[in-house]
Amino acid sequence: MDLSYIINNLGEENDLTAPAVSPPIFLTSNYYFRTVDEFRKAISNERENWIYSRGNNPTINLLCKKLAALEGTEEALVFASGMAAISNAVLAMVKNGDHVVCVRHPYSWTDTLMNRNLLPKFGVEVTMIEGSSIKAITDAIKPNTTVMYLESPNSWTFEVQDLKAVSSLARDRGIITIIDNSYSTPLFQQPAKHGIDLVVHTASKYLGGHSDIVAGVCCGSKVLINKIFENEFLTLGGILSPMNAWLLIRGLRTLELRMNHVSMVAAEVIDFLKNSGIVRKIYYPFMNDNPQFETVSRQMVKGSGLFSVELLTGNIEAIERFCNSLTYWRMAVSWGGFESLIIPSCTFVKPGLYSSLPANMIRFSVGLESAEVLIADLKDHMHLLT
Ligand SMILES: *Cc1c(COP(=O)(O)O)cnc(C)c1O
Repeated sequence: MDLSYIINNLGEENDLTAPAVSPPIFLTSNYYFRTVDEFRKAISNERENWIYSRGNNPTINLLCKKLAALEGTEEALVFASGMAAISNAVLAMVKNGDHVVCVRHPYSWTDTLMNRNLLPKFGVEVTMIEGSSIKAITDAIKPNTTVMYLESPNSWTFEVQDLKAVSSLARDRGIITIIDNSYSTPLFQQPAKHGIDLVVHTASKYLGGHSDIVAGVCCGSKVLINKIFENEFLTLGGILSPMNAWLLIRGLRTLELRMNHVSMVAAEVIDFLKNSGIVRKIYYPFMNDNPQFETVSRQMVKGSGLFSVELLTGNIEAIERFCNSLTYWRMAVSWGGFESLIIPSCTFVKPGLYSSLPANMIRFSVGLESAEVLIADLKDHMHLLT
């Protein structure tokens, strides 16, 4: 047999299909056509055809179908990171001279996008507002406001916005609403049901769930997703690899099991901390003393596994000794994986400097370990804080 034939053609004469229970990873950049006419038709509509994998790819399309259905939206796009999803969604909805209203204390790189890096560079003005106040949001609106950017709850202090109220306010004025829904996942909150236009996620956290991929998602109507696809998605080219899309499909299989676990274990750990004598305040959407508890209960199903505490002690050396001593709570950025993590705010906050956060906070991300193991680890080392 001819060597060239063996390498380039043998076994591939027909389209490859098999009744595989696990979907194939289509590691292909390119797709072929049998006739010029077929080719011409496909090229006139990139959104609905397989032409080149910067646009569509079967493994990616399968993943997008699941994500859109989970969020209760018509369509979804996936990206190489959560920040790619956020940047693409925001950039697609603004132009030079526009104004954006954004909630205070969003994810740090979202803040960079809004205030330091991209939007100011392209002449888009941003007003940061207290998202818990509908009046503050209303007052911030200008005639050229085109986007309202929400993060509800955010990932350190867990403030929420009244999604129904904000979306109707925006809709009446033709303003597009975008929300970062990473904390809740679509299982614990579906913002589109409350009228929010675009729902973005980092899939590097709960959706992937295994701390092995960086990925992002944007869900919305066919019209808005098409708009992003035709412009920013194809032009900026921040696509997810089919390999990582497959890992994300696998991660989603256990999303419900994982979310229920972290929610239950977080409640037990919080219960322990509440009575431990080492914390001043616990930040978690479903705390009874949360002034936003009523809004939280109206729009969220449950709290996830992420919460913060403000410690009674302000002794940073003691806090460092405590964090350095824990065995099962590992120290790292990010959250939402199988592993339980902490991040002390003193890592990046100097008392009175850099941040609105106090320096004696610790953020906890509950992983898939048992409550007993995680609580025992805290119990064994909490004397360091007193
Ligand atoms: C991590 C994170 C992001 C960014 O996601 P990447 O996948 O790391 O780009 C966005 N929003 C929130 C709330 C996050 O925690």
